[in-house]
Amino acid sequence: MKKRLINNSLNNKLKKIKFILLDIDGVVVPRGTKIEQKGENLKINIKKIPESQIEKIKTLSKKGYVFGINSGRGLYMLQNMFSKILPYLIITYENGSATWYKGKIYQHSNSFDKLYKVRQELEKVKHPNIKGFEPKEFIITVHCKKRVKEIEKIVSKYKELYSIWNDEAYDIGVKGLQTKARGLKEVMKTFKIKKQQILFVGDNYNDRGLGGMAGVIVSADKTRLKGDIYVSMHEKKLPAEQVMDIFLNKLK
Ligand SMILES: [Mg+2]
Repeated sequence: MKKRLINNSLNNKLKKIKFILLDIDGVVVPRGTKIEQKGENLKINIKKIPESQIEKIKTLSKKGYVFGINSGRGLYMLQNMFSKILPYLIITYENGSATWYKGKIYQHSNSFDKLYKVRQELEKVKHPNIKGFEPKEFIITVHCKKRVKEIEKIVSKYKELYSIWNDEAYDIGVKGLQTKARGLKEVMKTFKIKKQQILFVGDNYNDRGLGGMAGVIVSADKTRLKGDIYVSMHEKKLPAEQVMDIFLNKLK
């Protein structure tokens, strides 16, 4: 017997969804950010959202769905990645530090005093595994080939800071203040969105906080994130698009 992807109780939950919140890496685009710093030159590879997803986001937006992005990346990069669909997106960036919507910026925290000193210390570290600092406004992101003990040691001296290693970089920010979950909380407040109206698509351990705030979780990696729906990241269509298809087919 063929197992149904969407059963009735799930279908009822999907009917309440208004806000589709997407993680980026592994969901909208394949995993991984490429960055390379040589002296004063910084080279960043920016991935664009696939054309097939652009059309589907436009169609669903016209039907009343709102799309959200919640990422550790900087706004400039997200605006570039999503340049063709900016009118349809609520962008929360730098791990919940701020949100952009139609040209207006909502700053959720001020980390300047807490990160200024540690940044000076980190810039002095010389290590062959360090690839470079990704330009960010509110958090610190250091790309490395592998973990660098010296970075971890420096950050651990600052009790109010976190340092998250994600296999390609360290994100350093203020605990409880600069988190994706906090960013989503602010978005829910600002745009009056309820939990049952949120569908979240993620693929990683660090997506659990966001998942817990959504009515429906779609996981693209069941070994790392528990979901109500599972999609595969190894198919031709990336997970975000598979989710868009669910909503497009449901509406037919
Ligand atoms: Mg991801």
